[in-house]
Amino acid sequence: MGKVLIIGAGGVGTVVVHKVAQNVSVFTDIVLASRTLSKCAIIAADVKKRTGITIKTAQVDADSVAELVALFRAEKPELVINVALPYQDLTIMDACLECGVNYLDTANYEPKDEAKFEYSWQWAYQDKFKKAGLTAMLGCGFDPGVTSVYTAYAAKHYFDEIHYLDIVDCNAGDHGKAFATNFNPEINIREVSQRGKYYQNGKWIETEPHEIHKPLNYPGIGPKESYVIYHEELESLVKNFPTLKRARFWMTFGQEYLTHLRVIQNIGMARIDEVEYNGVKIVPIQFLKAVLPNPGDLGENYTGETSIGCRIRGIKDGKEATYYVYNNCKHQDAYNETGTQGVSYTTGVPAMIGAMLFLQGIWRKPGVFNVEEFNPDPFMDMLNKHGLPWHEIHNGELEL
Ligand code: NDP
Repeated sequence: MGKVLIIGAGGVGTVVVHKVAQNVSVFTDIVLASRTLSKCAIIAADVKKRTGITIKTAQVDADSVAELVALFRAEKPELVINVALPYQDLTIMDACLECGVNYLDTANYEPKDEAKFEYSWQWAYQDKFKKAGLTAMLGCGFDPGVTSVYTAYAAKHYFDEIHYLDIVDCNAGDHGKAFATNFNPEINIREVSQRGKYYQNGKWIETEPHEIHKPLNYPGIGPKESYVIYHEELESLVKNFPTLKRARFWMTFGQEYLTHLRVIQNIGMARIDEVEYNGVKIVPIQFLKAVLPNPGDLGENYTGETSIGCRIRGIKDGKEATYYVYNNCKHQDAYNETGTQGVSYTTGVPAMIGAMLFLQGIWRKPGVFNVEEFNPDPFMDMLNKHGLPWHEIHNGELEL
């Protein structure tokens, strides 16, 4: 049905490649490109072993529009799945516009020199993509991604108005390391160490990092201390669902993780500016990434599971209603299928599904869209078929 180019040979990229290779009736040609060609080759060899499918690999520096344009002209993909880093979103979108290629990503743009992410930079491409007749799908991982679609699905089927949204993200897994991040350490540490923020009555309320917390019960897992942090889908969800009075994002952290994080920050290793070391300029957080475990390699001994969902309160037929929709994903199941852990898996599968819906012509409209702006039903249906089944509880106690 169409040719797809995946950029980024990390943990998430590994899952995307495996999942598209499992669906070659839709993804008729598959190319994986990344900064380090040898990493693409390792993934391609594993995919060949597991599925018998041959995928093409290429080297590209996605910070360079010129390199991307040369690659897109050579390969002529219909869609690019960007699972490199948020720093590359705009260069890849620019190259897509230049070559007439459609775009999908899982994380919004973030400048390298400022730990700040927001959609404004990518939303500014709306007219250009529209004029070019191209589709850009933003935030098609799990959160953002599935959580955004869960919200759209709830609003469409179960409420007349949604008023309170709490996205709850629990990782109750154990990778056996003293400290490791579940996705790119640089992006992860930048995200979780920033000030907290949530939306209430038309305003954004800022908090100290991890200031608001409480134990929440996760299905099949039990109570876990959960912390309000700012997360990017809140920005688009409050815009696309203006009846929301409050929207928050909760994430679980273990005490061991928070202690390490505090030390890393206190000793300056989370710094994103350059420091001089032995006459060489280095960025401490990038150096830290080089010595921390690679998130994509955590899978082998990872036990336990993730549980991510949306707890929603609103009005249906004049009465208050609650709804909780969630997925639990076992790290070992993800590892057995793709060789990576659950966080990469829960991000890569939705990216594949968004790409599939695009190539099938179901999620296709010119412009730049967050995933909650598409019809949620076919996506929800595919989650059940491709490894991320969901469950729902109507009118239960939300704890929030
Ligand atoms: P990794 O660090 O494991 O992988 C990133 C890959 O991108 C690496 O292979 C890296 O190359 C490559 N890359 C980095 N810079 C460039 C560049 N300039 N040109 C070409 N390739 C480049 O990260 P993850 O797989 O954990 O995460 C990937 C993305 O997924 C991130 O944007 C992350 O924020 C997002 N994410 C989204 C989630 C969601 O639910 N929405 C959840 C988790 C992650 P090299 O190997 O050479 O370093």
